[in-house]
Amino acid sequence: MTDSALEPRPAGPLRVALTFDAEHPDRPSAQGVAERLLEELDRLAVPATFFVQGRWAEAYPHTARRIAEGGHLVGSHSHYHARMHLLSDAGLREDIRVAEEHVRRFVGVDPKPWFRCPFGAGADDPRVQAAVTEAGYRHVGWHVVGEDWPPDRTGQDVAETVVDGSIAHGDGAVVLLHTWPDRTLAGLITMVQRLRDAGAELVRLDALDPETIPTLAGG
Ligand SMILES: [Zn+2]
Repeated sequence: MTDSALEPRPAGPLRVALTFDAEHPDRPSAQGVAERLLEELDRLAVPATFFVQGRWAEAYPHTARRIAEGGHLVGSHSHYHARMHLLSDAGLREDIRVAEEHVRRFVGVDPKPWFRCPFGAGADDPRVQAAVTEAGYRHVGWHVVGEDWPPDRTGQDVAETVVDGSIAHGDGAVVLLHTWPDRTLAGLITMVQRLRDAGAELVRLDALDPETIPTLAGG
C-alpha cells in the first residue's frame, strides 16, 4: 500500500524560473523592497528574470542598473503598463519601442526577445501578438502565480504557493512574482530554501528549453 502523496517526485531535473515584474505598484507599498529583493537574490545566489517597465526604470535608474549587474535576465514589461489590447496599433508599437529605449538606457541591456504584457492582458489578442512579434519579442506568460499582491497574503503564503505550484508543475516551471510587495521579499528565503530542499535548481528563463516557456498566462 502506497500513499501517492508520499512518493518522491520523479527523478530528473527540476528547473524553476522565478520571474519578477518590476513596475510602479498599483497599490500602497513599502519603499525599497526591490532593492532588498535584489540583495537577497544576490546573497542566495539565485539567478532570476526581471520584466522591467520602462517608466519604472526611468524613475529608479540605480535599482534598474543593479538588476543587470546582478546577472539577472531582463525583459520588457511595456512602458506605460497599460492593458495592451486597449492601445491602438500605433500606440502598441510606440509603447513597445519606448519601453525598449528606456530599458536599454536605464538597465543597460537589450530586453529582446523577452516581453510580458502588463497583467498578461492582451497576450492572446492577435493584434497585440503581431505587434510584439514584429518588434522582435516573444511573449512570456507563467505556469505558477505567486499571488504576491493581495494585501491579506503573508510571505509564508506566497512561499507555499510558489513551492507547491512549482513542484506540481515539474521541470521548467515559470513563476510570476513582483518586485514591490513586501510579502514577496518576506517569503523569498523560505521559498528558495524549500525549492532547493526539493531538489530544484533556480534558473533564468534562458536556461529553459525555449519550447517549454509558456506564451500565455497559466501556461
Ligand atoms: Zn505588471
